[in-house]
Amino acid sequence: MSLELINVGYIVAAVLFIFGLKMLGSPATAVRGNWLSAWAMLIAVVVTLLDKSIVSYEWIIVGVLIGTVIGAVAAQKVQMTAMPEMVALFNGSGGLSSLLVGWAALHDGGDSLFILITVALSILIGGMTFSGSLIAYGKLAEVMTSRAIVFSAQRLVNALILVGIVVSAVLFCMDPATDSIWLYVLVGLSLLFGVMAVIPIGGADMPVVISLLNSYSGLAACAAGFAINNNILIVAGSLVGAAGIILTNIMCKAMNRSLANVLFSGFGAVKTATKVEGEVKPITAEDAFLILESAASVTFVPGYGMAVAQAQHVVRELGELLEANGAEVTYAIHPVAGRMPGHMNVLLAEANVPYDQLVEMDDINPRMNNIDVAVVIGANDVVNPAARNDENSPIYGMPIINVDHARTVFVLKRSMASGFSGVDNPLFFGENTRMLFGDAKQSIANLVAEFKS
Ligand code: NDP
Repeated sequence: MSLELINVGYIVAAVLFIFGLKMLGSPATAVRGNWLSAWAMLIAVVVTLLDKSIVSYEWIIVGVLIGTVIGAVAAQKVQMTAMPEMVALFNGSGGLSSLLVGWAALHDGGDSLFILITVALSILIGGMTFSGSLIAYGKLAEVMTSRAIVFSAQRLVNALILVGIVVSAVLFCMDPATDSIWLYVLVGLSLLFGVMAVIPIGGADMPVVISLLNSYSGLAACAAGFAINNNILIVAGSLVGAAGIILTNIMCKAMNRSLANVLFSGFGAVKTATKVEGEVKPITAEDAFLILESAASVTFVPGYGMAVAQAQHVVRELGELLEANGAEVTYAIHPVAGRMPGHMNVLLAEANVPYDQLVEMDDINPRMNNIDVAVVIGANDVVNPAARNDENSPIYGMPIINVDHARTVFVLKRSMASGFSGVDNPLFFGENTRMLFGDAKQSIANLVAEFKS
């Protein structure tokens, strides 16, 4: 295929990527946007395979087969609740691929200084994205602590690693070879830096890191695109990089923190929240039903526990029953609720909750005083008043949904356990709070049954 035709194919793919991304901005068009982007990727891959510089179709087919099997098995096996971990692994795989593509570009005799710099960048950004994403995976899957891991001299160690990265990259560029010792040092230090960058980031700050890693995976692909002179990789990488940075910014705003503060504050003294004590007032589904039945306005506040319980369908059913009963029903969405950006929106869309009932945190909070019942479904950190009131709390300053300002609050969870940030929640002891203990899906189903009987 001629170079012109290849580039025309790439332009078509790039345009489809951009429209696909735009459509992902609204739940109403997101599914079509995803399809459009998938077609764009297919076009990009097919056009690339028709390029005459392909050296071995056999190896490519082997790679495609292995990838297809892993992808198909994962798509079948991975539970919906494990999607955030899966996304972290996807980011990591993107980083590892860019590292390998950058490295492979050296075999092509790429020895101009520009190419060498892009190779070093793909290895650095790709490597740290890979190892950083594995740590993010570990924190999300709770195979390792979700709290910040800090030790003395951490800054010094990080500074030394950074110096090592710069020195090995420069030495590699001065004497490039596929088996250069400095290349191996660069790979090793980049991997180590990814680990060191993510371990000090604890609990509630993880959304920022996840979107940042997403952005890095795009930047790594972009650098790899320059290394092998592939236009669509440069475009697609830039799109992911830019979209990831925008998402990072949104997440920082949601946490009311600057990026620098999120990335480096873990190194400071780890704060210990003031201990909360008080009387917990449990409530039964029967009693909760009586209060809900006479409520004129109800807002549901979903969190990670709704994803775990897969309670979204029964929640929608309860919402419809409340509406039929004359109540105004809304769903209050906190930007970092759940374990991935947009997690709650995806679940509620899956359950066909009308989009116009979804209300963002900034819009619901001023109205909270007039809400009769706020039903917290497996949310914890995002409704923790300590973020507003306790200066010693690690989540102090994070905007929350002010459910404690509603007339009555029902908290649906299984125990008194803390949320992802590991911080106790004074909401559970509030004067107007009633705890409806149990699996959220079961508790909501009990309420639905009460309404129907
Ligand atoms: P939290 O993690 O704070 O709390 C979830 C609560 O759900 C737990 O306290 C748990 O309590 C309860 N729960 C778990 N399973 C069930 C069940 N089957 N039925 C009922 N309740 C259940 O969730 P939030 O959504 O409030 O906050 C999200 C947290 O995750 C924030 O700290 C955020 O920063 C962080 N995070 C967010 C990411 C994102 O991109 N959105 C990414 C990474 C981290 P119990 O065990 O007692 O049932």
